[in-house]
Parts: sequence; C-alpha cells; structure tokens
Amino acid sequence: MTDNRSLQNLKEAILKDYDRLGLKDSFSFNCYPGVSCFNQCCSDVNIFLTPYDVLRLKRRLNLFSWDFLAQYTLTPLEKNLQYPVLLLKMRDNPQKSCPFVEAGGCSVYSDRPWACRMYPIGLASPKDESQLTENDFYFLLKEEVCKGFAEANKSWSVKEWMINQGVPQYDEFGRLFKELTLHPFLQGGKALNPAKMEMFHMVCYNLDKFRGFLFNTSFFQRFEVEEALIKRLQVDDEELLKFGFKWLKFSLYGENTIIIKPEAQKKVLYEK
Ligand code: SF4
Ligand code: SF4
Repeated sequence: MTDNRSLQNLKEAILKDYDRLGLKDSFSFNCYPGVSCFNQCCSDVNIFLTPYDVLRLKRRLNLFSWDFLAQYTLTPLEKNLQYPVLLLKMRDNPQKSCPFVEAGGCSVYSDRPWACRMYPIGLASPKDESQLTENDFYFLLKEEVCKGFAEANKSWSVKEWMINQGVPQYDEFGRLFKELTLHPFLQGGKALNPAKMEMFHMVCYNLDKFRGFLFNTSFFQRFEVEEALIKRLQVDDEELLKFGFKWLKFSLYGENTIIIKPEAQKKVLYEK
C-alpha cells in the first residue's frame, strides 16, 4: 500500500516529469479478460472514493450508506487533511485484493468507482491551482504490473477512453464536489473545524444519514425548500446529493445557496 510520503512524492513527480495530455491526445492501450495481467491491478491499491462513487456502490450493493461505510471503507485521520476523504478498504488477505474483484473480473463493473474507470489515465491539478479546473491535465499511469500498453492494438484519445468507460456520467457530481474541495476558503490554507468536518463527511459519504438529518429534524421548518423537491429528496439519492452540496456551501462556507425562512430568522433574532 502506498503511504502518504510516497503519495506526495508521486504527486510531485507527476507535476514535474510526466507528459501532460489533453482530451484530444492519444495513447495505445488494451484491457480485456484474456490479458495476462487480468485483475492484477485490483489489489493493494489506494482508491479514493468520491461521493458519487459511494452513492453508486451502496445502491448497487443494496446497503444503507452507513453499512457500506463500515464494511467497505477507511477514513484516514490525518491532522493535515483539509476535508474528510474516503478510501476503499482492501481485503485482509496476502494480496490485499479489492473486495469486489472476482475470478471473472469486477463484480460491480457497471458501478465501479471513477478512479477505476479512468485507469490508466490520471488527472492532476498543479500545486498552485487557484481556479477550479483550468490548469488540470491528464497523464498516463504506467504500472509495471499492467500489460495493457504492451498488448495494445487499439489507439484511444483521452476523451474516447473516458466516454468508453462511462466517465461522463460522473462529471456533474465531480464538478460539484470540486466546488467544495477547491473552495477559496480551503485554497486560502484554512481547514474545516471538527463539527464542519463531520457535516462534510455525512453529506458527502453518508447520504442516508443526511436524509435522516433533513427529515427527522426541523430542517424544513427553518429553510425554504419547495414541496416538490422535498418529495424527491425522500426517494432520489442523486437529488439528495446535489442538495447536500448546496447545503455544504451554505453551512461550511456561508454562501447564499439555501434560504432561511423569515419566521426562523425572527426566531433567531428573538432568541438573541
Ligand atoms: S472496484 Fe472493480 S475495477 Fe475497481 S479495483 Fe475493485 S474490482 Fe477492480
Ligand atoms: S493490469 Fe492493466 S491490462 Fe491488466 S487488467 Fe488491469 S488495467 Fe487491464
């Protein structure tokens, strides 16, 4: 397993030495069930899960988000983390294999995480990134274990690969998540306090708990939310996650993405 130091070294090497690719640049690669290295990339890997990855996987496995988190994830506790991140927990076997890899391949293939879809393409942001994505670039991850480059008989542009792997379905949620993680508040070097870290974790990764937070409290008495949306939030996980991102912009960063009801404002003033 890659430790934090080597992750940092890898990041620095990528920014300094790796060829930067754009969407139209091409590469040769082939991955198929008969390839000699089949499944070998699905062990002992750091796979960071995005909020939308969690949504897709917990739904695929028919689990509540808290059960998915307990069974399949690790939350690294680092004092330098600016916001909570989530890792897919590898099996406790000598190969440290992914919990979803089987002899026939990935058992959650159509809901596999964003990082698995992108491989062997990586996405990087220069260290001094201050805008959301304008300086991002793609690069190729050439791992020794992977024979996909050597066996290649097919050329792809970066864009073609991403379309072939179903990456665009993840784009909207990726963009909304980046608006939180690359927010000027964090870019300014500040970190979230523990209560805000907890709120971030709940909304982004523990979606069913967030639903309880909305529906089992006085939330809808305090904030303006259309009736039709309230109904959708009860049953629609995608809608709930999008609403959650808006709530985080409001509750973490003080943006006007959620409106407080006038009567709730009066109550706050009265209580003061
Ligand atoms: S989720 Fe699927 S593709 Fe990703 S590492 Fe696990 S088995 Fe491999
Ligand atoms: S190691 Fe490379 S070629 Fe082999 S299965 Fe994984 S991605 Fe495909």
